[in-house]
Amino acid sequence: MARVEVRHVSKSFGNITAVEDFSLVTSDGEFIALVGPSGCGKTSIMRMIAGLETVSEGQVLFDDKDVTNELPRDRDVAMVFQNYALFPHLNVYSNLAFGLQLRKTPKAEIEARVKNVVRMLDIEELLSRRPRELSGGQRQRVALGRAIMREPRVFLMDEPLSNLDAALRMEMRAEIIKLQERLGITTFYVTHDQVEALSMGDRVVVMRSGRLQQVGTPMELYERPTNSYVAGFIGSPPMNFLAARANGSTLTLEVQDVELELSGRLSAALRESGSANILLGVRPEHVALSDHPASDGLYSLEATVDTVEPLGHTILVRTKLSSQQHINVLVSEKIPWRAGAGVHLIFRPEHIYLFDKEADRLLC
Ligand code: ATP
Repeated sequence: MARVEVRHVSKSFGNITAVEDFSLVTSDGEFIALVGPSGCGKTSIMRMIAGLETVSEGQVLFDDKDVTNELPRDRDVAMVFQNYALFPHLNVYSNLAFGLQLRKTPKAEIEARVKNVVRMLDIEELLSRRPRELSGGQRQRVALGRAIMREPRVFLMDEPLSNLDAALRMEMRAEIIKLQERLGITTFYVTHDQVEALSMGDRVVVMRSGRLQQVGTPMELYERPTNSYVAGFIGSPPMNFLAARANGSTLTLEVQDVELELSGRLSAALRESGSANILLGVRPEHVALSDHPASDGLYSLEATVDTVEPLGHTILVRTKLSSQQHINVLVSEKIPWRAGAGVHLIFRPEHIYLFDKEADRLLC
């Protein structure tokens, strides 16, 4: 395992900037999940760590040693991709053994390692099968097994589960986490699925358009998103946003011209920032529905129920403001309202996030 440091790394392809000034330091054995929409630069970062792509600017270090110009084979990293990259003409045993055979590792040692890895991944029965005789999940296990066989210093996994169905994904997710904890190998895991990133990463890196937006533990990202982009990306359904104008410690929502009197930390943050254009954020799980407007100290907005979607243990109620903007509400109990009913959306000051709209940053 290794401590990986990516220092002010940029990557350009002609005039396309894929990654811009990206920096990150992992601790030994840490699980880093990289998340962001398609094209935000996740794969480019992985390929630069692996040495498969040159770095336009900056450095990559493993345990304080500069590996920026080292070849992939000298870096001792193992990659797992979504397409498995197994040899179709070789059986599972040979797929697993291949890398070590190439390095002239003694046969007995290879056999012992294969035995250990197939036991770990519960694929002992599959050793003589070829990849086409395996299910997607089994192929994925073999691909993981091949990466483990190398006993690398760093694992790089690029959307390794995206070809699997939902149930198998969940199972494999848990297995990868268990495996990584057991092996203690520093791991970078790319996904565009925020749920996957939050459930797997010790820390999660949120990317947008080649730039790192925030890195933190899942809880830090959820509780203190650095800007409205991260706030909207982390959490499902995403945070609701309302545009507002600030005047002293009064916030006037653009919709319905509702005036919210802020106090405590909210008013202090607003005054300190001097920001005028504000985005007020409130998560769907922090909005309640009621027949009546809020009592003292709480905020309320008038809305109409648009759709009611049971999600299993919760219900997603999509409501509509007079401006036609939708506000999502997550409730845990059955509700008496149907589509078209008028309701009041109630939320508490302590659940409010304020963002400066222009600077796109969290105020509090
Ligand atoms: P996805 O989730 O779709 O795989 P990603 O976040 O991994 O996307 P990258 O594959 O790193 O994103 O791509 C980042 C940007 O760089 C994109 O705009 C992409 O089109 C561009 N890009 C990537 N590789 C190349 C290349 N070899 N030549 C030119 N442009 C490239």
